[in-house]
Amino acid sequence: MNVLLVGSGGREHAIAWRLAQSKKLGKLHIAPGNPGTAQCGRNVDIGSEDVEGLVDFAKSNDIALAVIGPENPLAAGIVDAFERAGIKAFGPCAGAAQLEADKAFAKQIMRSNAIPTAESRAFDTFADAKAYIASRDEPVVVKAAGLAAGKGVFVCDDPADGILAAEKIMIDRIFGDAGNVVIVEDKLLGQEVSILAFVDGRNIYVMETSQDHKPIGDGDTGPNTGGMGAYSPAPIVTEPLMSQIVREVLVPTVDGMNRNSTPYRGVLYAGLMMTQAGPRVLEFNVRFGDPETQPILMRLKSDLLEVMCAVCDGRLDEVTLEWDPRPAVCVVMASGGYPADYEKGKVISGLDAAAEMEDVMVFHAGTAEKDGQIVTAGGRVLGVTAMGATIADAKANAYRAVDMIDFEGAYCRRDIADKAVSPAE
Ligand code: AMP
Repeated sequence: MNVLLVGSGGREHAIAWRLAQSKKLGKLHIAPGNPGTAQCGRNVDIGSEDVEGLVDFAKSNDIALAVIGPENPLAAGIVDAFERAGIKAFGPCAGAAQLEADKAFAKQIMRSNAIPTAESRAFDTFADAKAYIASRDEPVVVKAAGLAAGKGVFVCDDPADGILAAEKIMIDRIFGDAGNVVIVEDKLLGQEVSILAFVDGRNIYVMETSQDHKPIGDGDTGPNTGGMGAYSPAPIVTEPLMSQIVREVLVPTVDGMNRNSTPYRGVLYAGLMMTQAGPRVLEFNVRFGDPETQPILMRLKSDLLEVMCAVCDGRLDEVTLEWDPRPAVCVVMASGGYPADYEKGKVISGLDAAAEMEDVMVFHAGTAEKDGQIVTAGGRVLGVTAMGATIADAKANAYRAVDMIDFEGAYCRRDIADKAVSPAE
């Protein structure tokens, strides 16, 4: 079976790597891909948001399944377009992708299905948002309702900061139309976890747990990024807690989406805060998370292509997922200056030596090939991922690999997975 994978980040390299191991795979094409995905299949020079170009390519290259990595093409209706062309596509249709693309929609689904989340209000004028924030004397979280590459959320400790955030989003329009509406919600306290599940419209199959690290700095300081690292599993999610999450969050979401006539198919990602009052949804994503996918897929032993086909065909109950019990840790190496301005084109050294380490995968994200060398081409450059007997071992392995790799200005957090390492380790 020939597959077209859409996207070009670390997540897509991890997906391509696993798909390439499938017994069912014929040819794997990645559009547009990166130098890492080029080691797993053939990169095709079509942008991930060029829906028409991608569908045309699939029609003329005998593609049986399209796998969509990022959220933007999903929100733009790429799955609908593939299905109109008679090609199976892994991911939700545009109506269901609103769960991520429109936080006001997500809040409404949560409200009408009694799914636990922070109290919130939506505003479409700055004046109203400002008046509301000023009336609150507790910390608030201000979010652009639309897609902002994971950077549209401001956690504010006082109303003045909250008003400034709303101004940046609604008046300075730093996220463009994604900031036409803001959501202002109560700030929640607790540890965060990401729960990813395969959903086929009816059946839910939860993957191993993970936790990402959004802020740029050690100790969760500084501005939010696309994600600076992740580990799997997240020991905080005990079995009873997972049952509670499935019962209180995943099942009502899938049911609610059916009732809303936007049935859900693909990967459903619930970003949760484990508060003292129980799990609360911070956000939904409608695709694999980046970088959580890297440690999760490193641990997946089953055939990913078979699982994706089962999701598309509505027969997820026929597959089983097998996992490597060993933990995995992914450390993101970023360009100096990210998430603000950074330079590109820095030559990366040490990739081959790191790739030779046992139980290590160096997933490419913002890289490019230039004159036979791999150079930096984005903010998040590499996702260095390693397994180990314990989470502490996996962390040590990942940083050993990180320390073999270098490029001018390279930056990474040094505390990835510390939250999960027990003092005894
Ligand atoms: P989101 O994209 O909505 O998950 O938000 C990005 C990050 O902002 C989350 O991973 C949390 O760290 C933080 N965040 C979002 N909503 C809240 C909230 N209600 N309370 C505290 N932190 C939050």
